Amino acid sequence: MSEKFDIPFKSSFVPAVLEPGAKIKFNCHKGVSCFNACCKHADIQLTPYDILRLKDNLGVSVTEFLKDHTVPFEMDKDGLPGVKLRTDNEGACLFVNDEGCSVYKDRPTACRYYPIGHMAMREAGSSEDEARYFLIREDHCKGHEEDREILVDEYRKEQEVEVYDQLNREWLQLMLKKKSTGPAIGRPSDTSLQFFFMCSYDTDRLRRFVLSDSFKASYDLDEKFYQTMENEDLALMQFGTRLLKQVLFGEVTIPVKDNATEKRIEERKEILEMRRKAEVELHKQKQEQQMKDALS
Ligand code: SF4
Ligand code: SF4
Repeated sequence: MSEKFDIPFKSSFVPAVLEPGAKIKFNCHKGVSCFNACCKHADIQLTPYDILRLKDNLGVSVTEFLKDHTVPFEMDKDGLPGVKLRTDNEGACLFVNDEGCSVYKDRPTACRYYPIGHMAMREAGSSEDEARYFLIREDHCKGHEEDREILVDEYRKEQEVEVYDQLNREWLQLMLKKKSTGPAIGRPSDTSLQFFFMCSYDTDRLRRFVLSDSFKASYDLDEKFYQTMENEDLALMQFGTRLLKQVLFGEVTIPVKDNATEKRIEERKEILEMRRKAEVELHKQKQEQQMKDALS
């Protein structure tokens, strides 16, 4: 993971690595003198699960949420698309008010973790990734001066990050895989990047894609599956990650119909042939018209 992913806003401080079982001295509550300071300089990257929680909190569609509350950015040098919370011109999160966070019960993963940063690491030769934590200290944050010590794991429980970690895990693992195999894969095509965006964030569009005739003609899935995709956002989000793994990383877990690719190529050939004939016909008509104009 890039550091940007986990640190809520840009910092000039080098984060201190936390050993497993470490305690932090920190507390954040309405009484701190810096209350809301962090949300007024927000740089929050969103995960697929963050988006579902926030759009449900606001009672809007994913499409509306992405349009009104996020800005796109590139997560790496290959242009892998990410989304961040939109801010006002001064950099304040649109959800902060005098009382604090207006979407508190559904606030994003990065907001829950702060001032702990986290990233997944994988040892060379290992297939398992491990969470690593570090402490972010910034001058404006007075929570470090509060008289409370808490274990990192207790802090994670208090902030209810476990469900977020669980539901973000597969997608984050994919990011890690992309990062570790990046140079071998090279820069993905624009179509691949758009596909990545749809599968990761734009679940409204993903739903239309999965329920389309062309998808159904390609994958061998039953009616129950399609009903689930129609009605359950979380299942659709998780399927999006599976689809990404299959299409971009060759991890085949979704059954493909026999000859689906060949059929699509045949259909494509037919369409191209029809287009070619239409173009020839148009060309003939134009020539005839030119001849008529020349003779008149
Ligand atoms: S979502 Fe809430 S906690 Fe996160 S930056 Fe915005 S106001 Fe602050
Ligand atoms: S203590 Fe830190 S995290 Fe809490 S409001 Fe202040 S700046 Fe934000």
